[in-house]
Amino acid sequence: MADKYWGQVAQLTGLAHCPNQGPFGLKDGAAIGSRNGYIVAIGPAKDGNKQSVKIMVRFPETSDGNLARMALENSNELAVALETDKVAAKQLKPASISTNSILWTWTYMLGKPKAEKLAAVANAIVNALKGTVPDFQGKCETCRNSSVSQVMLMNNLPGYFCSGCQFKAQEQQDSAAREYEAMESNLGLGLIYGAGAAFVGSLGWAAIALFLNRISLWAAFGIGFLVAWALIKGMGRITMMGQAAIALLTIASVLFGDVLFYTGYIVRNENVPFSGALLGRVLSIFWSVELKEGWLSIGFALIAAVYAVYQKGRKPKFNVVFTQLAPEGQANSATLS
Ligand SMILES: [Zn+2]
Repeated sequence: MADKYWGQVAQLTGLAHCPNQGPFGLKDGAAIGSRNGYIVAIGPAKDGNKQSVKIMVRFPETSDGNLARMALENSNELAVALETDKVAAKQLKPASISTNSILWTWTYMLGKPKAEKLAAVANAIVNALKGTVPDFQGKCETCRNSSVSQVMLMNNLPGYFCSGCQFKAQEQQDSAAREYEAMESNLGLGLIYGAGAAFVGSLGWAAIALFLNRISLWAAFGIGFLVAWALIKGMGRITMMGQAAIALLTIASVLFGDVLFYTGYIVRNENVPFSGALLGRVLSIFWSVELKEGWLSIGFALIAAVYAVYQKGRKPKFNVVFTQLAPEGQANSATLS
């Protein structure tokens, strides 16, 4: 696993190489740490087909986003590192500069820039900020009060987070989870909404099928969504019973929609007036037709329903995760989740 390149970058920048960690999401992770009081991460990245190495420098929110840009433009060290006379807008093109961070994206075609060159640019950026852009001063970036000695990851973003603020974030997640658990679950209302949606879905299904002269699998998707959405709307917190009801109502909606479609088809194409007898005739042959033709639409409708339940009806996921850095060669990583 030892990667000489990133180990070298880490060494030249005074950071720690943490494989699989950091904001860029690749196996090689990033060199992460603090320098001059700023949080720094340098690592490989991939945007689509474009390969790059990225330098991220984080600093406390400034009121003026131009502060960091000016600091970079005035840096002789950065000019030297970039092998240019003067840092101007052109040189800063790879940099996306905000009021609290710089993200330098160094795209390349054939090979990564030399480790020395990458480190020189990163160090120059960090040195340029010093004295112009305030640093974290070893303080928690959330409360700006407690001293923090180590850089940690919050959802892979490196920063300074004190144990108090980590605890608070955890508490907020827990109470949101409790709120969800305490949410009312009204199966009766859910069934009313769901049945209404299923009926509307059947009418729409038949109308679209009659219009197109064939069934449309997109309409099947629509039914699944509609039924699930309506039932969840009525029910609130969804339970296993609710999920089962969504599945049954979705199937019922498609089946009834097909009954209407077949009946309507005969009424229109054979000029037979609608009657109970006609409906009976359709129903008598319904299953033999439906077993051949209907299962695909039912399948599609159910997929949509499952997807809608997954999107809207599941317990919300609260995912603020704090992780300690796990530098290469040190096999200790603790996850607070
Ligand atoms: Zn704090």
